[in-house]
Amino acid sequence: GAVHGINNSTGGMSLVNSWNGRPYSQRYFDILEKRKTLPVWHQKEEFLKVLKENQTLILVGETGSGKTTQIPQFVLEAVEVESADRRKKYMVGCTQPRRVAAMSVSRRVAEEMDVTIGEEVGYSIRFEDCSSAKTVLKYLTDGMLLREAMTDPLLERPDLKLVVMSATLEAEKFQGYFFGAPLMKVPGRLHPVEIFYTQEPERDYLEAAIRTVVQIHMCEPPGDILVFLTGEEEIEDACRKITKEVGNMGDQVGPVKVVPLYSTLPPAMQQKIFEPAPPPLTEGGPAGRKIVISTNIAETSLTIDGIVYVIDPGFAKQKVYNPRVRVESLLVSPISKASAHQRSGRAGRTQPGKCFRLYTEKSFNNDLQPQTYPEILRSNLANTVLTLKKLEVLNYLGALDDEGNLTKLGEIMSEFPLDPQMGKMLVVSPEFNCSNEILSISAMLSVPNCFVRPREAQKAADEAKARFGHIDGDHLTLLNVYHAYKQNNDDQSWCYENFVNQRALKSADNVRQQLARIMARFNLKLCSTDFNSRDYYINIRKAMLAGYFMQVAHLERTGHYLTVKDNQVVHLHPSNCLDHKPEWVIYNEYVLTSRNFIRTVTDVRGEWIVDIAPHYYDLDNFPQCEAKRVLEKLYKKREKDKEESRNRR
Ligand code: ADP
Repeated sequence: GAVHGINNSTGGMSLVNSWNGRPYSQRYFDILEKRKTLPVWHQKEEFLKVLKENQTLILVGETGSGKTTQIPQFVLEAVEVESADRRKKYMVGCTQPRRVAAMSVSRRVAEEMDVTIGEEVGYSIRFEDCSSAKTVLKYLTDGMLLREAMTDPLLERPDLKLVVMSATLEAEKFQGYFFGAPLMKVPGRLHPVEIFYTQEPERDYLEAAIRTVVQIHMCEPPGDILVFLTGEEEIEDACRKITKEVGNMGDQVGPVKVVPLYSTLPPAMQQKIFEPAPPPLTEGGPAGRKIVISTNIAETSLTIDGIVYVIDPGFAKQKVYNPRVRVESLLVSPISKASAHQRSGRAGRTQPGKCFRLYTEKSFNNDLQPQTYPEILRSNLANTVLTLKKLEVLNYLGALDDEGNLTKLGEIMSEFPLDPQMGKMLVVSPEFNCSNEILSISAMLSVPNCFVRPREAQKAADEAKARFGHIDGDHLTLLNVYHAYKQNNDDQSWCYENFVNQRALKSADNVRQQLARIMARFNLKLCSTDFNSRDYYINIRKAMLAGYFMQVAHLERTGHYLTVKDNQVVHLHPSNCLDHKPEWVIYNEYVLTSRNFIRTVTDVRGEWIVDIAPHYYDLDNFPQCEAKRVLEKLYKKREKDKEESRNRR
């Protein structure tokens, strides 16, 4: 049937888009031609047949074969045909491992279907829902699907269909799990990729990567370059250096367009990776090149056509979860063989390519693990799977009762798309008369770092930051920044002059509104302590402690900090705003680098700890350490004070 122009019979092609009744644009037809060349299109009929006859199916196909962009549209076509007469309400959802991928792919698919993003095609990621009542195809992160599944029992419906798609998955395992579901294979169309290794290990992979880019640009035939680096700062640094070095070579070489790609880049900038390489400067002159410098997003989540050269230094920032300190962190670590293979494959999408591995062949064979551990083994599950695993922690937070069931408090906490600690802090904040401020702090902690520190203006940036500084803690500094930003009405030049990232603050504002709505739904009061009261900041610090009492460090007499109970040596991160070294601090993050740092810290008092979290600071259940002795004294003092006040009465 000719439905929604996803039909490939050119003869009877409709000129009107039945999604919105508008005539198709020329661009629609142009893209359609390209789409039809994608491998999954060759098996479209087969796919539709298998889908019709089965509830679950498994589809394996190389990255770039059209799984993410095309298959959901095929499914839409199938349900449309079926439900045309039955007027069923339906939705096609497609999960994505990352926020960037969900945003970028949904935009692309909206374009392919010639509809406006957020209408028929939308996306939903934490803190941002770009969909409407009209939406029939939604791209969403795994986390968001879990969240929907928590409140939406529809997943039990017999007409639910599931298509499991991947480039790398072990199909038999999934077939076994889904009672022998059928497997469809989409043959890849990968061209050969020649692999080069370095002779000696590289001392500095960033420098080596830049050098390799320049060499390719000088000596190799036309074709775009993809470089894998680990994070925003490194990527921006590389972009600057490459642009500069190529610029210095003058018109001996073709022009380059260097584009960064990482998750916190604004969506409009992310789209730049799909733009074509620049044309030669003069007619017949050396060809231009696009150079994409990316995190491992470009490894599997996003496919960029036209890449002929891949540079793989062999590292990625990967999530690791340290159950000892119960903190999740991102660590630069060696990739697996499977990742290296994926990366090199990116060079052979449109023609034979080359991959330059900046490590030795020996190291590839002997040092790299065969597979990357599944993310679920490296993640902190507490936030999505409240009832699993961290029973003890959730017990301490009061989210579970002794039978392991969710308490009323736990139920409310689970409605916040946040870590349980932060959820707890928000839920109890009205009791400390500071829910407005805790909302702002939570929002600020949920967005990327708002402080900008450009290389050429570090001193000025530090001075600007110091003006917001609060001597009792970084959380309070964040609150100051947020307040100042609001007072200046989201003013761009104010942000610029004060070295704060306007985008981060805008999204904090947005997050805050969403969290406030959840608060309202549970009748949690929005309130503040009088700013002139000496309790204003004290109440805020106490409320934070009520959520984060498991992330506390104690200053030892030797001058370093030990995390409470697990006794890990940590240092205050140099970015902190404190003017002193407090005896007790709560921290938001544990950063593992050359030294172990705790980042975003605030001064709290021992007296509050024994008041607010005695169940966790139960000394019968506490390792021998300095902190324990201090706490013992505090408990004794608390007993004495209580007795005295009884006697007075
Ligand atoms: P898979 O899911 O199998 O890895 P995709 O469906 O993501 O494959 O990609 C199919 C094709 O769509 C690729 O050639 C890719 O380059 C292209 N594509 C995806 N997003 C965009 C975009 N925003 N702009 C242009 N092309 C895109």
